[in-house]
Amino acid sequence: MEDPESLGFEHMGLDHRLLQAVTDLGWSRPTLIQEKAIPLALEGKDLLARARTGSGKTAAYAIPMLQLLLHRKATGPVVEQAVRALVLVPTKELARQAQSMIQQLAAYCARDIRVANVSAAEDSASQRAVLMEKPDVVVGTPSRILNHLQQDNLKLRDSMELLVVDEADLLFSFGFEEELKSLLCHLPRIYQAFLMSATFNEDVQALKELVLHNPLSLIRGKSLLFVNTLERSYRLRLFLEQFSIPACVLNGELPLRSRCHIISQFNQGFYDCVIATDAEVLGPPVKGKHRGKGPKRDKASDPEAGVARGIDFHHVCAVLNFDLPPTPEAYIHRAGRTARANNPGIVLTFVLPTEQSQLGKIEELLSGDSGAPVLLPYQFHMEEIEGFRYRCRDAMRSVTKQAIREARLKEIKEELLHSEKLKTYFEDNPRDLQLLRHDLPLHPAVVKPHLGNVPDYLVPPALRGLVHPHKKRKKPLASKKAKKAKTQNPLRSFKHRGEKCRPTAALS
Ligand code: AMP
Repeated sequence: MEDPESLGFEHMGLDHRLLQAVTDLGWSRPTLIQEKAIPLALEGKDLLARARTGSGKTAAYAIPMLQLLLHRKATGPVVEQAVRALVLVPTKELARQAQSMIQQLAAYCARDIRVANVSAAEDSASQRAVLMEKPDVVVGTPSRILNHLQQDNLKLRDSMELLVVDEADLLFSFGFEEELKSLLCHLPRIYQAFLMSATFNEDVQALKELVLHNPLSLIRGKSLLFVNTLERSYRLRLFLEQFSIPACVLNGELPLRSRCHIISQFNQGFYDCVIATDAEVLGPPVKGKHRGKGPKRDKASDPEAGVARGIDFHHVCAVLNFDLPPTPEAYIHRAGRTARANNPGIVLTFVLPTEQSQLGKIEELLSGDSGAPVLLPYQFHMEEIEGFRYRCRDAMRSVTKQAIREARLKEIKEELLHSEKLKTYFEDNPRDLQLLRHDLPLHPAVVKPHLGNVPDYLVPPALRGLVHPHKKRKKPLASKKAKKAKTQNPLRSFKHRGEKCRPTAALS
């Protein structure tokens, strides 16, 4: 059953606790289905896999599921306990087997990941108690799961990220079709789905259309936004501010303490977005590649240049290149800030038609000798975001050169003030250090509050219902100013999550 040619589990970027469990189970190599499915699943793709009992199919979905859950828990202190994965199976016996396999694989992270099986028809009260604890994974037959959903014992709409349908071909033939359809109404609009089936018959095709429907996937978590000049950092910050999206600029002109504080708070989950240039994150710019309009700073003589070199950004889920990196090396450095330590991450880059040759050089370096394409076009329907065109134009108009100059001056003044405090006052009052924020609005331009409220008709149909006020992040500041800064903003959650195409991988 094991595939002797396959790459070992240790090359899949799995958490060491999962690897330990796999070793304890005595599995030296992944089976064929595991070898194919696990890497694709870890990339966030939906799976339709032809897999029979005995092929190792349970682990083929359970391993990436556990890896994703562990990653979720590791990406910051703000992650709430919630049911994030649902495993649907056609029989009680299969539910028991699936739960047992998942638990064996989670043996070394049992405290972090709880798995509940609610397939037994009897004992509804004790199942309700178990579900109230919000186990990370719930396993069950469609009828039992639907029952709990209808009784409000189980809520999945706001938290479920992963759906597994095991033995999919049997679900319809066992008469679960109607229950399954009703159940799907209780799920969020977007989630990753794995469909495991011994055969690809008409029922599975129908199920595939019901379940693997999502053309979108989402950017979740913390993002690093790269631009090529400091002036553009502030342009972007003020543009986002127009939509009430807070962001910090990592600016080499700010006091060192402020910059270190921004990175440290980003790592602790206080901020979602940090805007940076290569110079601030990676140190002095690559020779002869200064593309900005502003004065060229002598980084070699600036002892504080590239402040972040010694400090790492943690748990960066996405790197967004608003400007194409000036060199292929800069691209690699930027991209290297995400997907670290076996965590998933994405890099999105805006490229102008005039920058095609520069993009070609980046692709060349990335693909190496293989020549295989590494960068993929970002697929989305332009018409879906057409409604934002006028708002964006309005916002851009407000971000004038004068506004940018004022914002930079204002921030430097404020941060100098903070820096003094950081040095003296905060040494004696370390708790108050937590209260300082660097992403408060600068407001050099008129902010039109309506831009921050996105009516439903502007939201792409596939994202409607998802665009609700963003989850509260850590709130270090109790002042009036801070309360104002964290006003709920639907666009922010849309923008922050972004959209990208999630291809479905069919394996057989
Ligand atoms: P399943 O197809 O999920 O029902 O799995 C069938 C059996 O294969 C189970 O008893 C697993 O313990 C075993 N198994 C799963 N993956 C592997 C592997 N990579 N190496 C050896 N045995 C495995």
